[in-house]
Amino acid sequence: MLPSANTYEELREKFQWDIPEFFNIGVDICDKWADKHAAREALIFAEEEGPTTTYTFGDLKKLSNQLANLLVSQGINRGDRVGILLPQAPETAFSHIAIHKLGGISIPLFSLFGEEALEYRLGNSGAKALITNNAGAEKLAKIRSSLPELELILNIEGTDFGTRSLHAEMAEQSHDFTPVKTKAEDPAIIIYTSGTTGQPKGALHAHRTLLGHLPGVEMPHNMFPKEGDRFWTPADWAWIGGLIDVLLPSLHHGVTVVACRFKKFSGEAAFQLMQDLKIRNAFIPPTALKMMRQVENPSDRWNYSLRSLGSGGEALGAELIQWGRDTFGLTISEFYGQTECNLVVSTCAELMETRPGVTGKAVPGFDVQIVDDNGTILETGQLGNIGVRAPNPIMFLQYWNNPEATKKKFSGDFLITGDKGVMDKDGWIQFVGRDDDVITSSGYRIGPGEIEDCLLKHDAVAMAGVIGKPDKLRTEIVKAYIVLKEGIEPSDELAKELSEFVKQRLAAHEYPRELEFVEALPMTTTGKVIRRELRARAIDEEV
Ligand code: ATP
Ligand code: MG
Repeated sequence: MLPSANTYEELREKFQWDIPEFFNIGVDICDKWADKHAAREALIFAEEEGPTTTYTFGDLKKLSNQLANLLVSQGINRGDRVGILLPQAPETAFSHIAIHKLGGISIPLFSLFGEEALEYRLGNSGAKALITNNAGAEKLAKIRSSLPELELILNIEGTDFGTRSLHAEMAEQSHDFTPVKTKAEDPAIIIYTSGTTGQPKGALHAHRTLLGHLPGVEMPHNMFPKEGDRFWTPADWAWIGGLIDVLLPSLHHGVTVVACRFKKFSGEAAFQLMQDLKIRNAFIPPTALKMMRQVENPSDRWNYSLRSLGSGGEALGAELIQWGRDTFGLTISEFYGQTECNLVVSTCAELMETRPGVTGKAVPGFDVQIVDDNGTILETGQLGNIGVRAPNPIMFLQYWNNPEATKKKFSGDFLITGDKGVMDKDGWIQFVGRDDDVITSSGYRIGPGEIEDCLLKHDAVAMAGVIGKPDKLRTEIVKAYIVLKEGIEPSDELAKELSEFVKQRLAAHEYPRELEFVEALPMTTTGKVIRRELRARAIDEEV
């Protein structure tokens, strides 16, 4: 946990890692608490317009022990991979715990993945078992024949589609289980990247990843945990942002996590949940915040009271920070990282004067620098690769089954994120864009984030995606794809107005020379704009 400090500098100075030789995520987030405080509330599971159920740490221990016994009885052992294809649910939480306790490797999978996405990830990871529901089982039935290593499918809803009943079979198992003694360095989780730039890669993480994440969770959440904290995220627990930035660290600290199954996520439903379940801490990615921002006068309609709100995964931008102040009376903290090495840059409103639009400073315990392609540190103010010095406790072990890609990810002493940024003399790091997203126009290097943020300030705009479109004269021109707020009609006048809006606020070379209205932007399941698809679209239009 972070030491107490009055300033960011003091915090950085005082902080020291303390990673034990032996560490097991399942024991740490469950048995550690259950053995002393079995009745402590661990999880509240809410179904939209349905019942709300509470699980204590004692409940999670019993359930995870039964599942661990069941898996072991079916030949699942240390080092085996087990997929979890479920939305936020108690079964998702205790499945992770059970897999870790038996020394296995869990593979979180988005419940919205289609057959192809599942086939790729399950095949690539060589999963031996899968825990899912009816919707997942139906998809699996169609691809099972191409997954020879997958021996067992446990279904939380019954036995349809040739699956076996998780709950019925668990009920016959003992409540006691002796966890495998794992080293902090042993593999624990394969989590696939979002696939924004190409095929997703399976980042293999060690048990220590949870400890490595703690400073980067505590900082944006204003020294989490504090008395009365209760954490919720709309981000799926299959994503590192939901799993290792919210679920695992909360349970590590003994803080209650709220899990919610929305019929369909909406801004209204989010405010309603915050009120009803008295949420105190939330991680809400920018895309979800943009949806919430479309709800009018939320503070008149709901009675919510957040203590901390963190966001990341995409640039947050000044406009959302301002909206956050007006809506929640607090400063949204931004954090930055990636599946391979998450939560290494952050802001913390309690410790520093934040600069809206600037990504943040290195989280204590991490050395983040702007480096060239050889891993040499660049001078202050120069645009280069955002690099993270290795090793450190949050760093992934390797890409599963892909030593070449693993090797390519590092240069010199640094992990090369594949993102471009600049750092100022005070250590503020500005994310400029992914390698491919940075726009080169008339000799300028332009990040799409700043233009998207500016467009968002216009009353008519709900979402914006900005790219560089190839241009003979200027190398590239700035092109913006715009999703308008509900009820607003696209027109040539509005397009002109928006271009002009950016020109006046940013710079003449940054305004979108082309602007197109669209119904929706192409997004990954984690809510990231897939700009490479917009680029391909822009090129196609030319032909
Ligand atoms: P793939 O690696 O498969 O292309 P991905 O990089 O989108 O997918 P993730 O690991 O989920 O997969 O996302 C990490 C990336 O998200 C970062 O490398 C960065 O580009 C972006 N990102 C994360 N946080 C921020 C932030 N605060 N501001 C801007 N971009 C961010
Ligand atoms: Mg990536």
